[in-house]
Order: sequence, then structure tokens, then C-alpha cells
Amino acid sequence: MRGIADLDVGGRAVLLRADLNVPLDGTSITDDGRIKATMPTITDLARRGARLLVCAHLGRPKGADYAARSAGGPSLRPVADRLGELLGRPVRFAANVAGPSAAAVAGELSDGDVGLLENVRFEPAETSKDDGERRELARRLAALAELYVGDGFGALHRKHASVYDVPALLPHAAGNLVLAEVAVLRQLTEDPKRPYVVVLGGAKISDKLAVVANLRTIADRILIGGGMAFTFLAARGYGVGRSLVEQDMIGEVGRMLDEPGGAEIVLPVDMVAATGFAADADHETVPVSEFPPDRMGLDIGVATSNLFAGKLADAGTVFWNGPMGVFEFPAFAAGTRAVAEAISHVPGLTVVGGGDSAAAVRKLQFPESAFSHISTGGGASLEYLEGKTLPGLAALEADK
Ligand code: ADP
Ligand code: MG
Repeated sequence: MRGIADLDVGGRAVLLRADLNVPLDGTSITDDGRIKATMPTITDLARRGARLLVCAHLGRPKGADYAARSAGGPSLRPVADRLGELLGRPVRFAANVAGPSAAAVAGELSDGDVGLLENVRFEPAETSKDDGERRELARRLAALAELYVGDGFGALHRKHASVYDVPALLPHAAGNLVLAEVAVLRQLTEDPKRPYVVVLGGAKISDKLAVVANLRTIADRILIGGGMAFTFLAARGYGVGRSLVEQDMIGEVGRMLDEPGGAEIVLPVDMVAATGFAADADHETVPVSEFPPDRMGLDIGVATSNLFAGKLADAGTVFWNGPMGVFEFPAFAAGTRAVAEAISHVPGLTVVGGGDSAAAVRKLQFPESAFSHISTGGGASLEYLEGKTLPGLAALEADK
């Protein structure tokens, strides 16, 4: 896969697909981490004299079209302002995706200038399942530039026009963020240093069962906490009270636990059982064999934290996705904190993936340097670790 260093960009129009899908409160950006993550690519291309047109999505506009915009669909305009602040020079904003305003902005850019197109998902064709519809939009986007750079790691698992179809039409390369993320994912799947320990948590097992199944063939240990642990405990025959359980997954989880071979699967031995889903709910730690029927588990217990820390102590490689409990409530953040702490002491490669997991380590005030890598793309990382081909990555790897 080519990187931007392999492209001759001076004086040329470059379409950059980035992931600028930041959380907004009205029109103010509450976390600009995704913008900052793609800045090295933007500044490098601009410094080398590219005429840079950035394309990105924001949220999931429904019935998406320009009407969604006038109806208050999420506009990228605030992101253009923030991008300009980080860059130290104004960023021109095109009020549409591939229409007259986009063409006008593209035409006005001088060498080293940066412009941003409006939310690409305002075009229904962006996410269309119809190849012809997507390609028609891709042709209009490709007409705005001579070269394409893919740096939107968080969108690489989407077969969308700006991610999958445009790189087939223009000479292209991967941006620095994509190269860095993919290099880490390769380390996690090709010849990882052992023991390789995977920690999974979070809310829904249905999101992650395929990851467990595939990583079971690669990793040495898989530690399971968070809400998803209750479906595993239920499959093992434990009572789980009113905890989060996905009834329709119990059978499949049970079959996986019974399958011989593969990584050791380590389940919690105690849980923090609360009277309800609330920050101030009464709670006590109980062994998993004595879970009260009227309670719900909102965190792993201390014995489990210690068990997991022991399983992590000698790790050569760690991948962690999903909080161990409802860390948003301080009373139920101890398990997530303990696991983060244990991982921060591992000298080998340690990778944190997933939007909420990254938010958790920031909220619990671990410095970024406590881990080797914090991934910007939860869904894309997980699909890669499931062993799936990411359409956007395949498109960047293909010749053009
Ligand atoms: P990520 O975004 O890192 O992939 P998920 O989206 O899968 O993580 O899950 C994060 C959510 O899981 C958090 O909001 C957290 O509150 C929730 N969660 C963790 N443990 C529990 C639990 N025991 N019961 C209910 N929700 C939980
Ligand atoms: Mg999440």
C-alpha cells in the first residue's frame, strides 16, 4: 500500500477522505480527537503544496439529502472552523458535497490551501447499496481532484462511495493515520509477541462474538468483563439477576465455550451487584455463584480485577476493547480502572480500541502514553480483528 510520501502532490488537487466524525453539542465540538488524529496527514500534504479538498461524514443523517441539511442535519461547518484553528490558516468550506459550491471551492484553492466539503452523507448515494448510484457520486467527487488520499480509518469498514469507489478512479495512497492503525492491527494478528492477552468488555456480546471467535484462534487468553460477561455466565449456568443478558446469544456462547482448543477464556468470579441502573444505586460485591435475582451487575468485583491483572502481568501483547463496567458512574468504574492500570504496566505492545474504551481511559485520566496505541476506529478495528476484509482498505491496496 502506497503512503503519501509516494505521491507527488505539489500543485496538484488532492481529495482527502478523513474521519472527522466528532461529537457535537449543538454546533460546538466536545472532543476534537479525531480532527487532531488526521492533522499530520493534512499538514504534510499542505506543506508540500497540495491543493487539499477534505471530504468526511458527520453523524448519520436520515433520509439524507440536502433537505436534511436545511432541516438541521449535522453540518461540518464547525469542523472547518476548528480545522482552520489547528492549521493556523483559514479552511474554505463548501456548502455542498460535489455540487457547484464544491467545484467553486476546489477551483479557488492555491498550493497549500485546504478546503472542506459538506457532510458527504447528505448525498444518499454515499451509503447506497446500489453500485451504480455510488459510482455516479464517486465520479462527481473524483472530478474535483487529481489524486486521492484515504485517511479515514474509522470508516474503512464501510463500502461507501467516498471510501470504496473514489480510490478506484484516482491514483491514490493511504494517509499517515491509516498506515499507523493498519500497522498496529497487523502486529495484533500476524505473529504477536506472546503471551497475547485480549480483554473484552462493553455492552453487547452480539457486536463482539465474531471477534472472540476469531481471536480465540490467535490469542493465548481472552478475559471477558463488562455487560457481555453476563451472557457468558448465563451460558455457564449462573444466575445473573436483572443484569444485561442477550438471551438469544446464550446458546451460541455456550457452544463456543464448549469448543476445545484455542485461547483460554477467563470469566469474572465476582461482580458488583446494584439495585438499579443509577449512579447512586446501592451495591455490594458478590461471587458470581451467589448473584441476587433482584440485582443487576454494573462492574466486575475486586477478585476479578486481581484475577485479570494476574493474567495480564506477563503479557507480550494486549488488545483491549470495551469497559469492564458502567464506568460513566464513578461507583462502577473501579474494574475498568484496575484493568487499565494493569495494562499500563505491561511492557509489550498494548492497544486500546473502541470509542467508549478510549473515552474511559481519558475520563479516568490515564495519559495517552500509558498505552502503545489508542485506536481511533472501533468498528473498523473490530471488523479487521474478525478477519474480515475492510472495503476501504482493499480499495487503497488495489493498484491505480
Ligand atoms: P466500545 O465503544 O469501547 O467498543 P461498547 O460500546 O461495546 O464499548 O460498550 C461500552 C458501554 O458498555 C459503556 O457505555 C458501559 O457503560 C457499558 N457497560 C459496561 N459494563 C456494563 C454492564 N455491566 N451493564 C451495562 N452496561 C455496561
Ligand atoms: Mg461504543
